Amino acid sequence: MAGTAVWLLQQLIPPLLLTYFYFGWKITTFETPQIYRTLPTLLVGSITIVYLRLYFLSSTQSTPPYDPPPAIRNRKIIFQCLSPSEAKALRLANDAANQYDEEPMVERCHRDRCGGRWKPARTRHCSMCQRCRGGWDHHCPFFANCLTAQYMRSFLALLLYTPPTVLLLSLPLYKPLCNRAIAAYAFSRSSDEIRQYWWDWSYSWVIAGGPIGRYAGGMILGWRELDKMDNDKTLRLGVGLMIGFGVLLALVTTGLAFSTITLLVRGNLTIDKGRSTAHNQALHAIYKSKMSGRSIPPELEMNLKRFSDTRHFYVPFPESFQNNGKEGIVLPILDHERPYDHGWKKNLEIVLGKGWAWLLPWNAMQRGMGDEMFSWPIEEGVKNRLMEEAERIALEIQGDS
Ligand SMILES: [Zn+2]
Ligand SMILES: [Zn+2]
Repeated sequence: MAGTAVWLLQQLIPPLLLTYFYFGWKITTFETPQIYRTLPTLLVGSITIVYLRLYFLSSTQSTPPYDPPPAIRNRKIIFQCLSPSEAKALRLANDAANQYDEEPMVERCHRDRCGGRWKPARTRHCSMCQRCRGGWDHHCPFFANCLTAQYMRSFLALLLYTPPTVLLLSLPLYKPLCNRAIAAYAFSRSSDEIRQYWWDWSYSWVIAGGPIGRYAGGMILGWRELDKMDNDKTLRLGVGLMIGFGVLLALVTTGLAFSTITLLVRGNLTIDKGRSTAHNQALHAIYKSKMSGRSIPPELEMNLKRFSDTRHFYVPFPESFQNNGKEGIVLPILDHERPYDHGWKKNLEIVLGKGWAWLLPWNAMQRGMGDEMFSWPIEEGVKNRLMEEAERIALEIQGDS
């Protein structure tokens, strides 16, 4: 049901938004007192092309390759893999003969169109698109596709262009439009006709969405009458509604830009935040059960495990130890370690590129990350700690034999 609603929404939103961009440009360029000429074309034009870039993304964008690259297949580098117990359970389920095999296993996805495709670190299966996407952030109904780290710059540029565009283009109209709105409200109150079928009609309290809708509706009715009387093209109701919607859009994009940047700075994508929220909810529920002396429901423990932040990495032994039969080991990361958090500056740089140049429209159109998105860089401190631990274990094995 929710899926159908999102599907319908994403069919409707893009044409509506594009129509809105067109009328916004037309009104500010040709119909309002001519303060601007080229500015609206530049601003609205940039927004439109970056938006179209996202809207025309292919359906297979950001999908990981079917198999991991050779460096991972041949286990030459550190990579995120399943925990030994998960790998063992999978082997038991698939092929009992190899159940004690200690080889590291990468995660694979068997849902929908994935059919056993490699699922690298920071990849998530989108149920709307029915496929896995690397560097997944969220499925966005505004452009009917997934937002991934690769296109984060286009998305952020779009969010950051919108508020100044709305502000600049509508600035000269705020005062006259506010006056017009006040006049419209006063007219609506004094008109016998509108009073009769709106203000005195008791359903006006509910029909337009409550008391606010009653006053907004009354004002709109008055505005329509004023438009009929003086035929002022600039201050007509349509322009007022366009700008009202623009202000709303500017507020929403400001909020979204802020929360997206906050996540990126911490080395997170929306997927990580969802994960730790789910983990905390499960923890909290278990704590409550314990306090009240009830037994812990098994599905809660499963949730806790599923969303736990304990990741496992395959770490190759140093070259000199590798002729000992065993070439490397799977290690868990420690509780406090955040393998994908490199500090705010590098976090931004990995996803968006160096400096602020990505924000320019022609750069914002380019992908911010290439295939390295499927082998997300691991933070140096964590990487070194894992390598030291692997070396220590290798030495132990050598000492035993
Ligand atoms: Zn998948
Ligand atoms: Zn999607």
